[in-house]
Amino acid sequence: MKKIAFYGKGGIGKSTCVSNISMALAEQGFTVMQIGCDPKADSTRNLTHGDLIPSVLSVIREKKNDICLEDIVSCGSGGVLCVEAGGPKPGSGCAGRGIITAFEQLEELGAYTTYHPDIILYDVLGDVVCGGFALPIRQGYADEICIVTSGEMMSLYAADNISQAVNNYSKRGYAALKGLIYNAKNIENEDEIVEKAAAEMNTKVLSRINRDPIVQKAENAGMTVVEYAPNSSQADLYRKLAGILLED
Ligand code: ATP
Ligand code: MG
Repeated sequence: MKKIAFYGKGGIGKSTCVSNISMALAEQGFTVMQIGCDPKADSTRNLTHGDLIPSVLSVIREKKNDICLEDIVSCGSGGVLCVEAGGPKPGSGCAGRGIITAFEQLEELGAYTTYHPDIILYDVLGDVVCGGFALPIRQGYADEICIVTSGEMMSLYAADNISQAVNNYSKRGYAALKGLIYNAKNIENEDEIVEKAAAEMNTKVLSRINRDPIVQKAENAGMTVVEYAPNSSQADLYRKLAGILLED
């Protein structure tokens, strides 16, 4: 079972990248589980034709201990297994706590032994890399970390913070940094800026994903590009990236 966590600044394109990768891997016949680790609980929206699935935390709030796997694992497009950790009610509790509770609940209900996913993809908000948000890096949840970034300063700043956190944990034998996913914003000299930043973080650019209006069109239809426009060059970029992620 391969386990990869994707971090990056808010709004940088994590959920778009991750759901397209999930779909591309599912297309190849893999059993894929995508776990949204963001209180917004919208990571898998493009795999469910725009529907928001109930988050683990909201199901726990509603059903207390009377929960079964089907309540928290939904079957999305291409058969991708979709999970949203969710978060506490705004203004109460720690958002990272939702992730910890969701992981515990998935294990307790035997999600991994029931569905036998080949690949688990964690989509994690990366603006804060504390407590629960760092959990996928620690304790064997993810083996590899990818950081989604553009060439914009704030996005690279977040990427650098995340890479430092990963490097700190990797010294203790936890997840290692696989590389950067460069989700282009088409700013000036962006390729050079991102390559330089990758070198400074001691890592590499795994793939460059073009900025393309087809992404919004697919999103408006509640789909990934891979499903919405399977013959597009953008879909092929996500497929190529999925292939790179499979490499050791
Ligand atoms: P959040 O941190 O809020 O969860 P995110 O990092 O998951 O955000 P997304 O929701 O995937 O970001 O993307 C933000 C917006 O950027 C979306 O409207 C999406 O359609 C758009 N977007 C992402 N990647 C691309 C791209 N390559 N080309 C065009 N638009 C894109
Ligand atoms: Mg997201």
